[in-house]
Amino acid sequence: MTVELISVGTELLLGNIVNTNANYLSKKCAELGLSLFYQITVGDNENRLIDTVKTAMSRSDIIILTGGLGPTQDDLTKEAVAKALGRKLVMDEHSRERILKYFDRISYDKQDNQIQKASAIASKALSKITDNNWKQALKIDDCFVIDNDNGTAPGYIIKENHKIIFLLPGPPSEMIPMFEQKMFPYLKETQQKVFISKMVKICGIGESRAETRILDLIEKQTNPTIAPYAKSGEVHFRITASADNENTAESMIQPLLKELMNRFGDNIYTTSEEETLEDVVVKLLQKQGLKLVTAESCTGGLLTGRIVNIPGASSVFTEGFITYSNESKMKYLGVDKKTLDQYGAVSEETATQMVKGAADTTGCEAALAITGIAGPDGGTKEKPIGLVYIGCYLKGIVTVREYRLRGNREKIREQSVIHALDLLRR
Ligand code: ATP
Ligand code: MG
Repeated sequence: MTVELISVGTELLLGNIVNTNANYLSKKCAELGLSLFYQITVGDNENRLIDTVKTAMSRSDIIILTGGLGPTQDDLTKEAVAKALGRKLVMDEHSRERILKYFDRISYDKQDNQIQKASAIASKALSKITDNNWKQALKIDDCFVIDNDNGTAPGYIIKENHKIIFLLPGPPSEMIPMFEQKMFPYLKETQQKVFISKMVKICGIGESRAETRILDLIEKQTNPTIAPYAKSGEVHFRITASADNENTAESMIQPLLKELMNRFGDNIYTTSEEETLEDVVVKLLQKQGLKLVTAESCTGGLLTGRIVNIPGASSVFTEGFITYSNESKMKYLGVDKKTLDQYGAVSEETATQMVKGAADTTGCEAALAITGIAGPDGGTKEKPIGLVYIGCYLKGIVTVREYRLRGNREKIREQSVIHALDLLRR
């Protein structure tokens, strides 16, 4: 089944709001194993909307529209879809009653705190309902109406020539619960196949190198499929298999998973969808009963922040030093002035003294130190921007690695953190 997503709203085209609905729905399609082939954004213009719906109907099986279901003049989605399908708009009694009830609640007179007679409430409610509110009680002929528990605009499911069209309200607070509760189960039922996917998360190897290593697998993929995602300093591969049942899909994934494990070995830090690199490091330290201290220069607390983000980090993390200047490296970590003068702050020697100093002054069995040139200033021919030294101390053994990272300041700092966590993990 192929899916097309149509986001409606001029404010999306103007860049006034971010299209989080498309982001959310794309992920849900992937979860359901539906092939999302097109994502279109169209303004609040009836003719363009009609054209967009007609095009979508000609090439996709499932069409999901969000936005433009409200009561105002520029809310045109329902009208445009009706015209594109050549159907009428008819009054939906159930929606009419819901609108009446909704305004009842609003007009309940709290001041005299008395329950008023039903007729009085109704007439008060009616006086508050404007003509355009009734627009929301109109439905496209022969469709399912989906109640909106978080707003007034209902959603709709329309079937046409073996195709399904979903109409969802624009505000995410209304769209998401409606999709979760009503449309997700509906779509799941229409899917005869079961989809299972596994995530293989890799660090310490660049995206293109990682992809080259499995190019043969990617080229011949059909089912299961492999999709690479590059993250800052990491590469993730999603393996997805579809089959008639979960067991078959699972058994189809296993050989490919094994193959990736063989090819990437230690570079794989997890095959869990949720687990992050810092999760893995914190768990590892917990398992071994080790305490960690950090000493950061160019990352300025970024590494510490990632570790502290993990709930339960206090069981392994005691303290961190942000020693940005040479003076503070000497004062808090005991780095020698001579070392700094001779080799510089960004050097193997300084990283060694930083990591040892951090471990010695705190008594921690594990320590990580980062010193580098994040740019945009400060690079020289011998020490270019992106040169980073990372020191790792584990139960008396010190390892220092040199990295030559690429990208802007933010990317270099992010990658430094990933490499530091990766070094400790191994
Ligand atoms: P309403 O009843 O609020 O008018 P609606 O279904 O008519 O709802 P729109 O008028 O298109 O929806 O959008 C209303 C608001 O919902 C927007 O101002 C925006 O805040 C949010 N919204 C709409 N579309 C999106 C989207 N694709 N991603 C994120 N937010 C959106
Ligand atoms: Mg609107």
